[in-house]
Amino acid sequence: MGTLDLGLVSLESYDSLIEADARQEILSAAESLKGLRVVHVNATPKGGGVAEILHSLVPMMRGLDIDARWWTLEADERFFAVTKRLHNGLQGKMTSLCREDIECYWLHNERAASAIELAFGSPDILVIHDPQVMAVPAFLRNGTRTVWHCHIDLTTPAEDFQARLLPLTQYYARCLVSMPEYAAAGLPLERTVAFPPAIDPFTAKNRDLPLEEARARLVGLGIDCRRPLVTQVSRFDPWKDPWGVVDAYRLAKKHVPALQLALVGALTAVDDPEGLEVWQSVCSYAGDDPDIHIYPEPEVGGDEPTVNAFQTASNVVIQKSIREGFGLTVTEAMWKGTPVIGGDCGGIRLQIEDGVNGYLVSSAVECAERIVDLLDDPHRARVMGVAARESVRRRFLLPRLLLDYLRLFQQIVAGQFRQPETRAGTEARALTALLAGPSNGEAAGHGHRTLRSGARGRRGKRSPPRAA
Ligand code: UDP
Repeated sequence: MGTLDLGLVSLESYDSLIEADARQEILSAAESLKGLRVVHVNATPKGGGVAEILHSLVPMMRGLDIDARWWTLEADERFFAVTKRLHNGLQGKMTSLCREDIECYWLHNERAASAIELAFGSPDILVIHDPQVMAVPAFLRNGTRTVWHCHIDLTTPAEDFQARLLPLTQYYARCLVSMPEYAAAGLPLERTVAFPPAIDPFTAKNRDLPLEEARARLVGLGIDCRRPLVTQVSRFDPWKDPWGVVDAYRLAKKHVPALQLALVGALTAVDDPEGLEVWQSVCSYAGDDPDIHIYPEPEVGGDEPTVNAFQTASNVVIQKSIREGFGLTVTEAMWKGTPVIGGDCGGIRLQIEDGVNGYLVSSAVECAERIVDLLDDPHRARVMGVAARESVRRRFLLPRLLLDYLRLFQQIVAGQFRQPETRAGTEARALTALLAGPSNGEAAGHGHRTLRSGARGRRGKRSPPRAA
């Protein structure tokens, strides 16, 4: 993929949303960082929360005269199958990797490091997002200061992944997570900060959309807007529990026969090879119920005004995740004043205060009960929606994220966090052994070292239904 061509956005456009002192702090922090060369690196330019954030954050940094860039990885299916397992392992799923998988991971990370150095020389700060490119600093030769921004839910990582992947944080000046609790997974506490992501209220996805216009879009997609609608917008991913959403809908429909369900999840994220399989499984699980509408098409889930329309015109938005680093879809729906029922996990807990600005649920039964409550009591739904929008306004809009990032950059530039030495060349190869761990596979005589893991402490939640 390489470097994305992004413009710049002026802070002034956000003036109406920023308190005067925060605005002043942003401007003076940006002044002190003028010309700073920052490169964000991740695995995909579209699909998922990281791409969503970078599309807005990078132009906003550029609008403040920070030389911010965004570089994405070019890789094949094999690599993304491996990195999805790393992602799943860090979120607690039983899975394993063989030596070839690990070599594939290192090879792509080594190539990424070379390509980044070729494209940018020695940027002042490199921000690496998520585990796909987490090993890049091990191959850098130029002492660039690095930040690992981990967006995933580290509440209960699988032990082997925790033990063998998280040591890569030793090559970072700073680790950044969405919630302080995640640092306990094994991040270096003295070098870890926590602040949550945010949404951009002025994108086509989040700007105010008149209800009639939103409804007209949904009618065009086969939804009957005279009848109640619940929606989940999410990649087709086991952690988002789309099967549980169907279960909740079916239970609620016994009380509200006119109920419709929409599952919106464009199959666009190149780093998410599970999507197709999960979508097929959900389609067969949903059966032939004409009131269940499933949209894997990029023209639906990949179209920002259409996602906006679903989040605006649904009676209730569901995000029934069982792991969730933060959950931008929750923020997006809350911003539209739509009541949200979220899985009681990870970053959703940071956003929803149960019974005040939404509901937290731990099962399909609870989710169904809350759907029925909200449909039966439109006044309560409206009050919750108003509280939801206000909590997003106060805590989860882009200028706040920008300021948190600028403060972090200031600390790094001031030298508060030393960049650990990089391990270019032979030392990096030694790390392969670190990741591969004991040679269990070889001892068993089939020539593969395995990285094995066990899921821990799911707090009674349903496991994703299939193993990698
Ligand atoms: N998204 C979208 N269309 C889809 C599915 C998801 O635009 O069909 C967007 C969604 O609106 C949100 C992001 O992808 O902005 C998902 O971020 P989130 O933090 O909820 O989950 P992630 O995919 O990063 O696990």
